[in-house]
Amino acid sequence: MIIIMKTHATMREKSAVIAWAEDAGYKIHLSEGSEQTVVGIIGDGRPLNREQAARMAGVERVVPILKPFKVASREFKQEDTVFPIGSHMVGGKGLVIMAGPCSVESRSQIIETAHAVKEAGAHILRGGAFKPRTSPYSFQGLGEEGLKYLAEAREETGLPIITEVTEPALVPLVCEYADILQIGARNMQNYALLHAVGKSQHPVLLKRGMSSFIEEWLMCAEYILSHGNTRVMLCERGIRTFETYTRNTFDINAIAVAKHLSHLPVIADPSHATGKWEYVAAATKASIAAGADGVILEVHPRPEEALSDGIQSLKPGRFAKLVKQMKAVAEAVDRHID
Ligand code: PEP
Ligand code: MN
Repeated sequence: MIIIMKTHATMREKSAVIAWAEDAGYKIHLSEGSEQTVVGIIGDGRPLNREQAARMAGVERVVPILKPFKVASREFKQEDTVFPIGSHMVGGKGLVIMAGPCSVESRSQIIETAHAVKEAGAHILRGGAFKPRTSPYSFQGLGEEGLKYLAEAREETGLPIITEVTEPALVPLVCEYADILQIGARNMQNYALLHAVGKSQHPVLLKRGMSSFIEEWLMCAEYILSHGNTRVMLCERGIRTFETYTRNTFDINAIAVAKHLSHLPVIADPSHATGKWEYVAAATKASIAAGADGVILEVHPRPEEALSDGIQSLKPGRFAKLVKQMKAVAEAVDRHID
């Protein structure tokens, strides 16, 4: 449940409410707005005396959170979560564009791509160094060498970097290099990994599992948030259906649903959602119209040579053209791309 304090509640009154809930064995998530303090109280299902809470000094009202996801829910926090990544805000009116290759393949490849996507208007550089591949014989990524090349690309272009972390033991290493940790679709319900990235306090992009319900996805965000790590982005990357002409089916509904149920920013991944570069532009524009707070797109200077996901990668020229169109769609829905 959440306890909404009166506008002029004193520090002493707030502390008394927090102490009361902590003594009862509950975890506190404090949200200090400019007007009001909201005390989120998360338990393990044991009943808490709501009437007693409502009678405490300085308390305006007590609201139960009915959804299974608590801190992630709009009931818990009504305003959109907005936070900076580098010099760019995520979750506000301005949309964020993340772009780059599926995998970091070489120093020159990532640096060339970083310059190209920056030139075209990207705000954040993507690139996988640890790759969770369907086949153990496919390219598995360059590992730490890839992280070093990403850091060099950031140094040259100023673009913050997002890269995937695949296991808890790698979290400290990836945090040393990355500005955002990506949790891949295959690892959405890797709870040990979710705990580890939650504890890291690094910004996280949480992809939806390919066969996951929206509720399961939000419960996974809750794992990260439960550690007090509030910088979480949700990412819709397509789900499994019976259709085979596309790699996945882009669940455009999920963008609107996640925005409705949660205050967290929602990022769309039209590259994995469609799996074919020919459909990426259409899906990208649709995602912005549907309310996404940003997109993550695969871009490769020579997709035919890519070691992973070349078929869905845009060439830099096509990406640049798409960014122009994205700007127009963003304006049509009262957003903007700087
Ligand atoms: C990726 O971003 O390259 C990736 C592996 O994505 P997903 O986890 O969505 O399949
Ligand atoms: Mn990929």
